[in-house]
Amino acid sequence: MTKPNLKGLTLNELEDFALSVGEKRFRGAQLFDWLYAKEASSFDEMSSLSKPLREKLASVACIDSLKLVEEQSSHRDGTTKFLFELSDGKRIESVLIPPRTAFDEQKRLTLCVSTQVGCALDCKFCATASMGILRNLTAGEIVDQVLHSQRISKKKITNLVYMGMGEPLMNYEPVMNSVDIISTGMDIAPRRITISTAGWAPKIRRMADEGRKVKLAVSLHSLDHNARSELMPINRKFPLPELLDSVQYYYRKMKSRVTFEYILFDGWNDRDEDIALLASLSRKIPCKVNIIPFHGIDFTHPTGISARLQPTPPKRMAEFVAKLRKAHVTVFVRSSAGDDIDAACGQLAVRVERARKTSVGTAHLQSPVANRRSA
Ligand code: SAH
Repeated sequence: MTKPNLKGLTLNELEDFALSVGEKRFRGAQLFDWLYAKEASSFDEMSSLSKPLREKLASVACIDSLKLVEEQSSHRDGTTKFLFELSDGKRIESVLIPPRTAFDEQKRLTLCVSTQVGCALDCKFCATASMGILRNLTAGEIVDQVLHSQRISKKKITNLVYMGMGEPLMNYEPVMNSVDIISTGMDIAPRRITISTAGWAPKIRRMADEGRKVKLAVSLHSLDHNARSELMPINRKFPLPELLDSVQYYYRKMKSRVTFEYILFDGWNDRDEDIALLASLSRKIPCKVNIIPFHGIDFTHPTGISARLQPTPPKRMAEFVAKLRKAHVTVFVRSSAGDDIDAACGQLAVRVERARKTSVGTAHLQSPVANRRSA
């Protein structure tokens, strides 16, 4: 029988584990502190526990960790991307994003984490979609992206965005457990944690019903039913009226402004009609709109509508943003972070996986240290 992995267990679960191996309940809190606040990666490091207890724990349980496979840093903006290997050999990525502008709080360091290996949603602009869904991540694998990235960068992560590979709300319990662990054990307050969804409406309602204090972001990308359905097949399952109802429900319960993410595609969702639709939405639901430049992904999507999607030219983008502001929409333009290092959702993992399959340039992927490269 394989030993249970303690990394990823919540405080309650660690207390239950302690009791199940004949120890007192308070051992659960000690383990919680060692695993998450003190970042122990072995029982040996848990110096406040007696040696016999550490040996006993090591004989009945383990502490699994991700393995760093590749690290890429962007010269341009300091974004760093980590490719991690899971215990079954599958690979995921996390992206470390330094403060973007002079207006950012000085010490802000954001990590973008993955929640699934691959994704089931098949959004036409997203590199992860080309992998299909391989499996959900455990809470431990999500938490470990944070622990590991802190260890590698030797810096404290202050903000988290669940915007890496996968759809967080299709892996609901592990995602929420990871949020609980990170916010109580690792000192990242829920208001500094953002969960981004492609629009899984019933789970947005569930977040509201459970009073989840994280920030919510919704990948909107269009308010036109046909255009959005072509970009994001999930729009046929939970069409815009149902999605926006759930967002309004969430706002009423949580009183927290939602962020709508909006990648601009040339001639697709950047018309004046789209500005009018966004303006009308922002009058109904208090929100921010994040305009995102499109990272081209033609290497994963050579055919179909994906091949026709192009970024909106900078001039039209500036005009689009100015018109939104004039219409009193709160709008931010997300800089093209990590554009030079495949930093959009799934790009690095997919590119490396392809290289592995065609055995082009794979030798250098074995050693994380030899392998740190700058783009
Ligand atoms: N499934 C979740 C989280 C993963 S995608 C969601 O849909 O929100 C998170 C964000 O990555 C999306 O909103 C989108 O803004 C961004 N993204 C994905 N592919 C991109 C690309 N090719 N260019 C720019 N942004 C991209």
